[in-house]
Amino acid sequence: MTETTAYTTLEASVYASKSLADCKVLVVDDEQSSCLLIATILSDIVQCDCLHDPKTVVAYCEQRAPDLIVLDINMPGINGIDLCQQLKNNRKTLACPIIFITGDGDAETQNKCWQAGASDYVRKPVVASTLVHRVKNLLQSKLRLDLLTELTFKDQLTTLYNRYYLFTEIPTQLKRLSREHKSLGVIMLDIDYFKGFNDRYGHVAGDKCLFDVGQALKAQLPGPLDSVVRYGGEEFAAFLSDMTKEDCRQVGQRMVEAVSNLTIENEASPLGMVTISAGFVVSPENNALTLEQLLSEADLYLYEAKLAGKGRLKGNGDHQDQAS
Ligand code: GH3
Ligand code: MG
Ligand code: MG
Repeated sequence: MTETTAYTTLEASVYASKSLADCKVLVVDDEQSSCLLIATILSDIVQCDCLHDPKTVVAYCEQRAPDLIVLDINMPGINGIDLCQQLKNNRKTLACPIIFITGDGDAETQNKCWQAGASDYVRKPVVASTLVHRVKNLLQSKLRLDLLTELTFKDQLTTLYNRYYLFTEIPTQLKRLSREHKSLGVIMLDIDYFKGFNDRYGHVAGDKCLFDVGQALKAQLPGPLDSVVRYGGEEFAAFLSDMTKEDCRQVGQRMVEAVSNLTIENEASPLGMVTISAGFVVSPENNALTLEQLLSEADLYLYEAKLAGKGRLKGNGDHQDQAS
């Protein structure tokens, strides 16, 4: 039988970003022969790993982030349904689709699978083409969702988070930090004399410069919950969790220095190279400020940094010069 596939533009771009053959599938079954059979069926289309001990699955998934799990129900130690629930309650693993494989096909078992968060269910003895097609369908949906998430939240040029991410995700982070009586540090950054850079070196070089600066800023983020977004043209904003003013100043200072250390020539700048100006603010103890207020306050300090000669950081809590 020949299969036809209608390639939509979206599908074509899905395959451009990650192919089915790159997907990692984890097969979990305490019986080695069962595991091997399923892995053999699937290894023509995806990369397969097998685990026989269900207790090792959560740690494996947290580390290796498989694209899909094929899970047996009846296993000694922990049963598949409990394991599925654990994976669905874990932030790091909840997005991974799970297909159950079992000999118990009664309605009660099937219901338990759906309630635990299963994406699909295949009866033993496994019919190879059914398993292959179900795995393919789920992986294609996952790849599409991954791509859409990427396109929604990331800036294509710099690969940093975009404005949409800023205004949908950061307010939630601010609320959470506020509940935990922790502060949010906000740094606004703007490349100096960038119009002149484009005029002198061209927009292609300008785009590359934006990418390099973005990566240099990202490399300075201190923690996994911190982020940097492309705010607009040549403007960036960094968000730092649980920061004192001094911590935030140090990160901001390192960002300013990291851009200078790229030593990208800019003859349009009196400083001779690409530099960045930055302004920072740390949310007050009571966290009474909104994200918009924090951004506009950080923007005022950025303006101060520009007025003071560019290539430097200004921030709240002190008004002495922070010339780099
Ligand atoms: P200042 O030192 O005061 O920040 O001045 P500036 O020249 O950096 O700022 P201005 O706002 O006058 O110019 C920003 C420039 O950024 C103008 C625009 O062409 C450039 N720019 C914005 N987005 C992009 C982009 O995606 N690619 C490229 N190559 N340039 C961009
Ligand atoms: Mg600007
Ligand atoms: Mg600028």
